[in-house]
Amino acid sequence: MAYDPDNIFAKILRGELPCKKVLESEHSLAFHDIRPLSRHHVLVIPKGAYVSFDDFSAQATPDEIVDLMRTIGEVARMLGVQESGYRLLSNHGEDARQEVQHLHFHVCGGQDLGVMLR
Ligand code: 5GP
Repeated sequence: MAYDPDNIFAKILRGELPCKKVLESEHSLAFHDIRPLSRHHVLVIPKGAYVSFDDFSAQATPDEIVDLMRTIGEVARMLGVQESGYRLLSNHGEDARQEVQHLHFHVCGGQDLGVMLR
């Protein structure tokens, strides 16, 4: 799938739509999910134009990959869930019901999350 520069997260990255920012780094942005599924629910996205984990894993630079992973870890520490536990989730494609076509990792925690996220 080709990257659509008009997707919601691209607009957030360009400052055209607001977000509740948690953390920003050179290559990544973390912000609160607008419809939280758990007490803490933060989305971490790369600033680059990647549809999902599929193209990111194949095309992102090592710097972008490391930056995204470190930002996710830092977000978990900021939320204070590194001890109690948290869940990382990234949906790719139709079967996973990916809603927004810009790679994002859900960071969910702050409560017992059960077996499935939803
Ligand atoms: P997906 O199903 O693609 O893995 O998850 C997309 C997530 O983006 C959903 O959890 C949804 O609540 C969130 N979301 C959709 N639109 C917006 C928005 O405009 N702002 C924020 N902060 N989150 C959004």
